[in-house]
Amino acid sequence: MKNLIVLVLILTTITAVGQEHSHRSSRPLTFPDIPGYKSIKTDLHMHTVFSDGNVWPNIRVQEALRDNLDVISLTEHLEYQPHSKDIPHPDRNRSYKIALQEAKDHDLLIVHGSEITRDAPMGHNNAVFIEDANPILQDKAENAFAEAKKQNAFVFWNHPAWYAQNPDGNPILSEFQKERINKGELHGIEVINMTDYAEESLALALENNLTIMGTSDVHGLIDWDYTEKGNHRPITLVFTKEKSIPSVKEALFAGRTVAVYNDLMVGREEFLAPLLQASLKVESATYAGNSNVLEIELTNITSSDLLFQNESAYTFYDSSPVFEISAGETKMLHLKTLERKSAVDLKLRALGCFVAPKIQPVVTWTFNPSN
Ligand SMILES: [Zn+2]
Ligand SMILES: [Zn+2]
Repeated sequence: MKNLIVLVLILTTITAVGQEHSHRSSRPLTFPDIPGYKSIKTDLHMHTVFSDGNVWPNIRVQEALRDNLDVISLTEHLEYQPHSKDIPHPDRNRSYKIALQEAKDHDLLIVHGSEITRDAPMGHNNAVFIEDANPILQDKAENAFAEAKKQNAFVFWNHPAWYAQNPDGNPILSEFQKERINKGELHGIEVINMTDYAEESLALALENNLTIMGTSDVHGLIDWDYTEKGNHRPITLVFTKEKSIPSVKEALFAGRTVAVYNDLMVGREEFLAPLLQASLKVESATYAGNSNVLEIELTNITSSDLLFQNESAYTFYDSSPVFEISAGETKMLHLKTLERKSAVDLKLRALGCFVAPKIQPVVTWTFNPSN
């Protein structure tokens, strides 16, 4: 009988999952919205067999659904086509069209993109929100950028610190990039590419008013390259007015992003600070017994582990001033306010987050303890 109940439960579960037609994995990426904007999860740099990747485009769509992403772009190298003997690929829009077809029954937006691929100093650059990839395939890099601009594309500099192109592992802003920026042909820069984070790329983003990006640049499987190693893929959170392709494009041009890789978050303070603020949900704030020790219960509602250092006017009763709240975890902090207060500020420095090289944001939560 017991076995029968178990069997019925298993069958019910299988049916329920089948009906939902969900591709969600056990570790979906989750981030809260911030005041005035939706937090849209994007990965705008990846490859398939239509350039030097190892999977068909439909797999990229399914992986994105498993990770709970909102927007992806398949950015095949226009010029580097190692599979061309097997896949002649006369139309460079093919990968986008297959992905679009695969995503049509799902809540996933596909952005049309391509990677313009050159040696240093031009390097690799993604043009996204393009209309037609074919005319962007040009002999001269300058002409490829001019065509991308003609199509009103958002263009970002990929892995500028890549040591295959810059042996020091530092980005070099050449005359080529300066000219593209001046002409309005280069709008963003990857500060996180695959598992690499370059503070120097963040500095370039801030100095040149480029949008801060993080991408997976995946060629194999997300599961093998990231998940199995205990990592999430890097993404760019884009703060948009709504979940639509024009809205994501508008936000990227406006620079409203935070790049995220596991517990590393990189972005302008005006977006990263409210993101952190919304990331900790206050469950309760009450004084313990007859004491002046304030118990604050906080839940990290994101999929990233968050590391903090106490910078409040008050010290902790029972924990190190440096502490982590893991993804999804609820933690109780005990703050010694020395007397009962009607309003208390908890000030925390987010140690894994950067608004500029070596600068971490400090976020304040104000509580009105119930006595
Ligand atoms: Zn590249
Ligand atoms: Zn790439």
